[in-house]
Amino acid sequence: MKRINKLLRPNILALKPYSSARDEFSGSASVYLDANENPYDTGYNRYPDPYQMDVKKRIAEIKGTQPGQIFLGNGSDEPIDLLFRAFCNPGVDNVVAIEPSYGMYKVAAGINDIQVKSVLLNEYYQIEAKKILEATDEKTKLIFLCSPNNPTGNNLNKDEMIRIITGFSGLVVLDEAYIDFAPGTSMLPDLEKYPNLVVLQTFSKAWGLAGIRLGMAFAQPGIISVLSKIKYPYNINALTQQHVLKMLETKEQKDLWVKTIIDERKKLAKELEQFNFVEKVYPSDANFLLVKMKKAREIFEYLMDQGVIVRDRTKVALCESSLRITVGSPEENRELVEKLKNTPPAP
Ligand code: PMP
Repeated sequence: MKRINKLLRPNILALKPYSSARDEFSGSASVYLDANENPYDTGYNRYPDPYQMDVKKRIAEIKGTQPGQIFLGNGSDEPIDLLFRAFCNPGVDNVVAIEPSYGMYKVAAGINDIQVKSVLLNEYYQIEAKKILEATDEKTKLIFLCSPNNPTGNNLNKDEMIRIITGFSGLVVLDEAYIDFAPGTSMLPDLEKYPNLVVLQTFSKAWGLAGIRLGMAFAQPGIISVLSKIKYPYNINALTQQHVLKMLETKEQKDLWVKTIIDERKKLAKELEQFNFVEKVYPSDANFLLVKMKKAREIFEYLMDQGVIVRDRTKVALCESSLRITVGSPEENRELVEKLKNTPPAP
């Protein structure tokens, strides 16, 4: 890996970050007259901790990392955008990403005027390290991988990922948004081994907290401090910080949801395979199934008329004729299957 200072945009390297009132004083005092807040207690009249130390300490315990290896963002979309802003010179640099994958990598690249070199997965929706590394050049700053991948649902091959991480001089961003549904496969335990690895996780999926907008980036402290330097000063609001601290004490509930969803995934896959219009239910390590079927668009529209909304992926590379179906509660999955049994016959 190149030194971080070599990878950074020169303006970011030189940037003196905004210093908030709460940056200059930490600890507790009896009178706060430093931040132009309203002194009357509404429960939220004070600015939140800009570095979310209580939340990071608790996450570090649960994930087996150090607080200094954690960045918290407004969803994982925030660190995705910040990585572009920190490392990619607009109009000059490029990134390599797998295709198909999560759409925000391309959108964030577009906003930041960065070219994306897409590398198609193979017929098993797998990566080939050689192909990905061959797509890089001296202007490639980031490689985006996603495991389990969205929308294909499968874990990427770990040996190939390691080949990419060790063979690349920039940063490898591994999006693990769905990792709780693929127990034992996270690369978080390998963080210390790979200084150029950034692992993204989120509270939006297994933890059931998509509404509070909280995403995590794990990396070596040098990378984390760059992201912290360029973020909005109070990017995680007090309501979110308080709520997640409460929810982190209910890990057993999260584990139970994950177990139920994994059980339901298996059951739903079997049921979907019975339909004559279903051509393939792809193996999934996530909380959704990619399903190839005849007349996928018509079935998508029929389900929508019936009040059941799934995701049309028929225009996505390598996913032609496929719908992406989130695994819901047992009742929701039953309703989906019942509606599919009543699909009108093709004309
Ligand atoms: N990564 C992947 C692979 C996703 O599918 C999603 C959401 N669909 C996200 C990240 C975004 O997560 P967040 O809600 O944390 O922004």
